[in-house]
Amino acid sequence: MKVYLIGAGPGDPRLLTLKAADIIKQCDVVVYDDLVSPEILGLAGDEVQKIYVGKRAGRDYMKQPRINTLVMDLAQKGQVVARLKGGDPCVFGRGGEEAMFLKECGIPFEIVPGVTSAIAGPVYAGIPLTYRGYSSSLRIITAHEDPYKADGFLDWSLMAKDSGTLVILMGASRIASIASRLIGEGMDPLIPCALVQEATTPVQRYCITTLQDAGKDAERAKIASPCIIVIGRVVELSRTLYTKERLPLSGKTVLVTRPLHLSSNMARLLTSMGACPVVYPLIELRELGFDLVDPVVYDVFIFTSQNAVDMYFARMYSEGLDARAFKGVKIICIGPKTRQALKRYGIMADFMAEDYRAEGVMAIPYMRKLKGKRVCLPRARGARPWLKEALEDKGNLVDEIFVYETIIPHDADKAGFERALDQVDIVIFTSPSGARNAAKLLDGDISRLKDRSLAAIGPVTQHAMEALGMHPEWVAAQYTDEGIMAILKEAP
Ligand code: SAH
Repeated sequence: MKVYLIGAGPGDPRLLTLKAADIIKQCDVVVYDDLVSPEILGLAGDEVQKIYVGKRAGRDYMKQPRINTLVMDLAQKGQVVARLKGGDPCVFGRGGEEAMFLKECGIPFEIVPGVTSAIAGPVYAGIPLTYRGYSSSLRIITAHEDPYKADGFLDWSLMAKDSGTLVILMGASRIASIASRLIGEGMDPLIPCALVQEATTPVQRYCITTLQDAGKDAERAKIASPCIIVIGRVVELSRTLYTKERLPLSGKTVLVTRPLHLSSNMARLLTSMGACPVVYPLIELRELGFDLVDPVVYDVFIFTSQNAVDMYFARMYSEGLDARAFKGVKIICIGPKTRQALKRYGIMADFMAEDYRAEGVMAIPYMRKLKGKRVCLPRARGARPWLKEALEDKGNLVDEIFVYETIIPHDADKAGFERALDQVDIVIFTSPSGARNAAKLLDGDISRLKDRSLAAIGPVTQHAMEALGMHPEWVAAQYTDEGIMAILKEAP
């Protein structure tokens, strides 16, 4: 049992530390706040419970004492808990308070620092917090308190006289009164001021102004929480140092419907193209118990998905078998992801399809000649029967083994899916079952989907979508995440 109080960074998932990533990959349960990105949650496996306890702009979803006891209960059950907080856990994140509580309860804990939004936010807007000749100090304050409160904690008169950089958190709704208080205490009204909203995320916005105009300009630019305010001469440097390039998908929001554990790769690719990914898995995998037959009784194994590889090997390992059990067996894989997955288990596939679908498998010269052999086909229940039939037509004996099935995730529902759809411009489907689950969740009324641009990972998914009345604007030529990115680049 142990609790890791982890800083998950300010928004851009690539700002997570390697240490945090390691712990998230190995923990038993994740307890997370608002502003923790789905890519980071996706690092924990599907089987890891993820509990949302978010708080935002003062509205607590779960009160602090409840969070404390929840984390305590989980730890006392012997679990390793990854307690994820935005930014750094101990910069206005109550990380210190949670640690104190754990200490008092005698629960072992460790604090893992994170990149705080107080520093990363300004940097992503081209503002270095210290700079020779501009500022030699940095003060980070919370605007949680009304600056005109009589017995407040902050010394506004001291801050007004300081020439260093002032960074204010939780100040979006208070900027006008903060500015007037600082000016009232003697601060230069023309000192530059920046407000950076949703810093380091693909939807980051910022506005640069002066202290005296900050309230008015923030309102005009509709700057809202979460937002970082920077006051100081260093803000001037943004004009020269802000370098964000315009990327092909800048300004687009894209819905990723893959199983959660496969979403992070796609979300990462989308972010690198400037899009804002929204992850709403429409599929969850459920392992199916199956009888494991010694692989050597087969001549050929065909793996048609990385999931099938992972689950087949998980079962083999549980029986004490490893890659050696495949000695002499020809191994065929459907595409590069499946090949990679096999490689992880020490298997170099003999052949890979050039066209990453069942038809492509049968087009491999070795497969075209295959006759009278025993073939094993571990795959998902409900997959197309085409491959099995094509092999049987050639006189092969085919054992189709259902190693998993795909179901609608237990936490997906109509209202949640509709909310996700309302946020996005583009929806990506990566399997026929994803498309079917979408229609099911919407009770067959796909009009909301029709207003969005739809993308399919390949023709099989495309046909399943068309059968449901959805018309994908894009169909990838390479049936992988990267293939989808290549066609989305052409987005109008
Ligand atoms: N521990 C966090 C801060 C928690 S307080 C950290 O180190 O970043 C919450 C406040 O942080 C928000 O009100 C906002 O002022 C700021 N904040 C957090 N993430 C932000 C982001 N991505 N962009 C702008 N402000 C952010």
